[in-house]
Amino acid sequence: MAAQRSRPLTDPASLAALLEEARHTLPGVRLFTDAVDRESYRLDETAYLTAGLPGAVALPSSTDEVAGLLRLASRHRVVVVPRGAGTGLSGGAAGIEGALTIVLTRMDRILEIDRANLCVITQPGVINATLKGAVAAEGLFYAPDPASYETCSIGGNLATNAGGLCCVKYGQTRDSVLGLEVVLADGTVIRTGGRNLKDVAGYSLTHLFVGSQGTLGIITEATLRLRPAPGPRSTLLAFFDTLDAAGDAVAAMTAAGLVPVTLELMDRETVIAVEDWHHLGLDVTAAAMLMVESDAPGAAAAAELDAAEAACVAAAGRSIVRAADAREADWLRQARRLALRALERQGTVRMEDVGVPRARVPELLRAIERIAAAHGVRCATFGHAGDGNLHPNLIFDHDDPDAAELTHRVRDEIFRAALDLGGTVTAEHGIGAARREWLPVQRGEGAVAAMRAIKDALDPQGILNPDRVL
Ligand SMILES: Cc1cc2nc3c(=O)[nH]c(=O)nc-3n(C[C@H](O)[C@H](O)[C@H](O)COP(=O)(O)OP(=O)(O)OC[C@H]3O[C@@H](n4cnc5c(N)ncnc54)[C@H](O)[C@@H]3O)c2cc1C
Repeated sequence: MAAQRSRPLTDPASLAALLEEARHTLPGVRLFTDAVDRESYRLDETAYLTAGLPGAVALPSSTDEVAGLLRLASRHRVVVVPRGAGTGLSGGAAGIEGALTIVLTRMDRILEIDRANLCVITQPGVINATLKGAVAAEGLFYAPDPASYETCSIGGNLATNAGGLCCVKYGQTRDSVLGLEVVLADGTVIRTGGRNLKDVAGYSLTHLFVGSQGTLGIITEATLRLRPAPGPRSTLLAFFDTLDAAGDAVAAMTAAGLVPVTLELMDRETVIAVEDWHHLGLDVTAAAMLMVESDAPGAAAAAELDAAEAACVAAAGRSIVRAADAREADWLRQARRLALRALERQGTVRMEDVGVPRARVPELLRAIERIAAAHGVRCATFGHAGDGNLHPNLIFDHDDPDAAELTHRVRDEIFRAALDLGGTVTAEHGIGAARREWLPVQRGEGAVAAMRAIKDALDPQGILNPDRVL
């Protein structure tokens, strides 16, 4: 289990000096120094990690205040943890002992919806669902759709390059970003792009900061790409007697060139957990369920689902049902979004995030099942099968003294299996604090050295989220 170091990286006197100056020069910044307040910023949603207690928590409300805080942090050599809504699943926003956590949730204004250029300019603390709702009211669509969309922030989505339920068709967060405003470790404010759909001036810094998990700078504004609102969703559910068959159906849909907006998988354990909680009438005897959604316009939606159904039938899918209307479709999607919460009702969940080239989903499913069974560990798998991205969830009793080591071993074997299939140890949640030792294994020492050189150039004192990612 990846424990955080408990020795403070920041000298308490340096933090005290920063706070003293901040109180005078940055009066608008809300500061929490009380231990009870700081405690609520210790963890993100990575329930199995141990994390440090921040020495102080700062909530700025403007770019100037973020820049002021980073200038002070760099002068006093205080370690900084950027934080959005704290829903991350890799420990990226979890506390570092004695450090300053900078929380961006007060920067929660949508600055402009630019209909003429199909983009929106927003601060980082806006919740994903709020942004989606605001642009939908204008007949527009912001695509990135993590299952946590009602609670996670745009800044966190950018910093993790979040995925979600509609990447098959619309890509990850990075595919919807046109430009960023970023505050660097020394307080310098830079802009990396803007409203131009095409812009190749210099290195693509935008894409460097997207997914950098708060290790290279703090995102204080983003220009995000919008699309015209798509058609209402049509939904198909297909149940299978084996995980293999469900995996085969996914591979067949990909090979047939289908691009549904959503292609999600839930295994039996997950279906049972969701059904126990929400009583949707899902088939709990099946080994796996696929959810396929189309947002194609008019008759094209039915045609897309017909093709998906044919692939499911060919892979021995049974009890194939379609949502009666948009309301039922919303219910089903919501059930999928709640899969993690449903599993958390049954124990502590160690959620992993492996990915493989899409045609290899059946092999990955087999490997996960085999590894968990070999170690006698309870594992529920769901995920974005259409992206080749699965979440094996290892469920254990938090008080079991052997669980930490055992689930860690199972995780390592699943990672090795994913890499052997040409995959990744994290498709959307990030390396963060939880998966660091696997970065050189996957990318190689040369690539990690290049990343380190970028980190050293942008943050020479190493104050931004140290010991995360690299
Ligand atoms: C129930 C549930 C479902 C989820 N489903 C999905 C899913 O479908 N797809 C998916 O990708 N993720 C999913 N997640 C994980 C999580 O919601 C995403 O990673 C999300 O993008 C994190 O956003 P946040 O605002 O909570 O960021 P935080 O957890 O606060 O931070 C995440 C990382 O971003 C950095 N950061 C935050 N804000 C900034 C900023 N302004 N500038 C620089 N760095 C910053 C932090 O340092 C940290 O490293 C899920 C989580 C839960 C609990």
